[in-house]
Amino acid sequence: MPLASPAIPSTCCYCGVGCGVLVKPEKNGDVTVTGNPAYPVNRGALCSKGLNLQYTVNDRSDRLLYPHMRYSKSRPLQRVSWEEALHRTAAVFRTFIEQYGPDSVAFYASGQCLTEEYYVINKLMKGFIGSNNLDTNSRLCMSSAVVGYKMALGEDSVPVCYDDIELADCFLVTGANPAWCHPILWRRVEAHKAANPHVKIVVVDPRATDTSALADVHIQVLPGTDVVLHQALARALIENGDIDVAFIEQHAEGYEAYRQLVFARTLEEAAQLCGVAEADIRLAAAYIGAAKGFLSMWTMGLNQSAMGVDKNLSLLNLHLITGQIGKPGAGPLSLTGQPNAMGGREVGGLSNLLPAHRNLANPEHRAAVQQFWGSGPLAEKPGYTATEMFEALEDGRLKAIWIICTNPLTSLPQVRQAEAALAKAKFVVVQDISTKPETLAYADVILPAAAWAEKEGTMTNSERRISYLPKVVEAPGEALPDAEIICRFARALNFPGFDFPTTEAIYEEHTRLTAGTTLDISGLNYTVLREQGSVQWPYRSGQPQASARLFTDQQFYTPSGRAIIHPVTATFRSEAPDDDFPFILTTGRIRDQWHTMTKTGKVSKLNQHTPQAYLEVHPQDAAALGVREGNLLTVKSRRGTVRVAARLSTGIRPGVVFLPMHWGKILGSDLNRANNVTSATLDPISKEPDFKFCAVQLEKYRKP
Ligand code: SF4
Repeated sequence: MPLASPAIPSTCCYCGVGCGVLVKPEKNGDVTVTGNPAYPVNRGALCSKGLNLQYTVNDRSDRLLYPHMRYSKSRPLQRVSWEEALHRTAAVFRTFIEQYGPDSVAFYASGQCLTEEYYVINKLMKGFIGSNNLDTNSRLCMSSAVVGYKMALGEDSVPVCYDDIELADCFLVTGANPAWCHPILWRRVEAHKAANPHVKIVVVDPRATDTSALADVHIQVLPGTDVVLHQALARALIENGDIDVAFIEQHAEGYEAYRQLVFARTLEEAAQLCGVAEADIRLAAAYIGAAKGFLSMWTMGLNQSAMGVDKNLSLLNLHLITGQIGKPGAGPLSLTGQPNAMGGREVGGLSNLLPAHRNLANPEHRAAVQQFWGSGPLAEKPGYTATEMFEALEDGRLKAIWIICTNPLTSLPQVRQAEAALAKAKFVVVQDISTKPETLAYADVILPAAAWAEKEGTMTNSERRISYLPKVVEAPGEALPDAEIICRFARALNFPGFDFPTTEAIYEEHTRLTAGTTLDISGLNYTVLREQGSVQWPYRSGQPQASARLFTDQQFYTPSGRAIIHPVTATFRSEAPDDDFPFILTTGRIRDQWHTMTKTGKVSKLNQHTPQAYLEVHPQDAAALGVREGNLLTVKSRRGTVRVAARLSTGIRPGVVFLPMHWGKILGSDLNRANNVTSATLDPISKEPDFKFCAVQLEKYRKP
């Protein structure tokens, strides 16, 4: 009798919490997935998405199976061999690069790519094609946090670990709804508070959510006023004497200018600007000031903003003036939306980054990477960011784009412009697992990729924890792992350095390139990861000791070794409401869907939670519009229209409406796509879009 297949440890491929799972291959080629009780992140627990992970793997009805290509824009796509697809693509890319230069082509990838995949795309684009035109959908997600960390701490380094949750006694959760979007972490917070009633939770959110339901104080802030609020908290902390003077004097710089800035506005004035009670600001400051361990958690409410970097810096300032960093239970914990956004940042997978936190502007850093790769010179000029790529396609600066594992025609802001850009692009390659992304309609070449559990590689979660994901089942049809597709393409372009015999060999090269940097993982390999399950970086060769926390010696990665308190002003850059567009629209996630629903949308159990897009609106606003629960509302901005049912809620501020971001084109209609209306305003430094703020008008829909 054959032995039953063992369950194989892996990691959930949805959010950046990075829960451990056990994947069991079944005889029929399917898998079953359960939580891994031995994994330190989740100790066996999974949220609704993780619990249904197997269905997304086992349902292969929507999978791309074979390469397809069209020989000209006027001809239909036809099935071709891998060799034909990649050689034709290489010929087109070579022609554009020769005629228009390396900046005429671009890769737009994803925080879902495995680290090895990121590594080879980055090496190909920056080292061998000679352009920095590689950006990912992490630009839409974490780039403001990346800039904030770099400016304040010297590098993009999350200093805490999840075990700090159980050591903290005050949480500031801002611009995030982890009860829905990072549920397993939130359950740890809930359990900690239940066992320790003295633990305080401050939630800042314009909406009442399942997260704010646990708050000791919910500051229902007016969207866009986060910096004002952070400064008011700082003022109250200073007034109360709840700052760490010794830390500020020895380990930080910039305090005096910051103190003067925050004292320029009274708490009463700040409360008015934020639209909240002054007493709530004072109470939150008192909780933070009394904490032995102060942990902040945030995500898109701060990052996806035209003031995203300022919001991040002003939050980090609260840790720096209180010395709440680099010690147990204390520090900033940015929650990552995608499973491997952190791994992508490690390999330099954004258009302004180099591998291992090296600096693109630094000629020595560029030379070191060039020498390591044996490539041509690396370009100094940053490449196009996510939204810039589509602008460059539209005006013809960019000729070809290769889109990997992401669905920009649902996820980009001002999405109609992106549609127009793809329609005008000379050459579009789409590499994906699914037939669902709207980009396929514009593709000249379609490349089928292997999905989670069909390929091996590594990912890094929000606490710098690197895990190994094994291949458990075969990919369907002729689908290939993304790293293999890229390496085959690089070889078709006759570039050296892409003949890796295994995925492990890619990882080994990546770890060697980190040696001597702050995220040095030169002591790490697949054997260590398989034996230990996962480890946090850094993990240096000869010092095999994972680092749970950074900055425990209070030495930061800045030139002076001191953290920098930036006196950021509360400059408002969003699209302000006016008489024509009087409401503030904010977007976000719902509990059981993930991103653009290409995976979670196939699971009927997950669809039952919220079957359709909706607009959350305060009953007072609904009454003024003559709208009742379930009535169709037309939501208009200066860019487009959405039509969805009204969901009345006293949990949202009057004047503010909320639209889920997951829905795209369904059955030919795109009227529930949030990004028809969102603003194209970007943070000036991080270039992250302002998904959380735009001006809209509402109208009850009446059939013509
Ligand atoms: Fe997966 Fe995130 Fe849920 Fe964990 S919390 S099971 S990583 S979706």
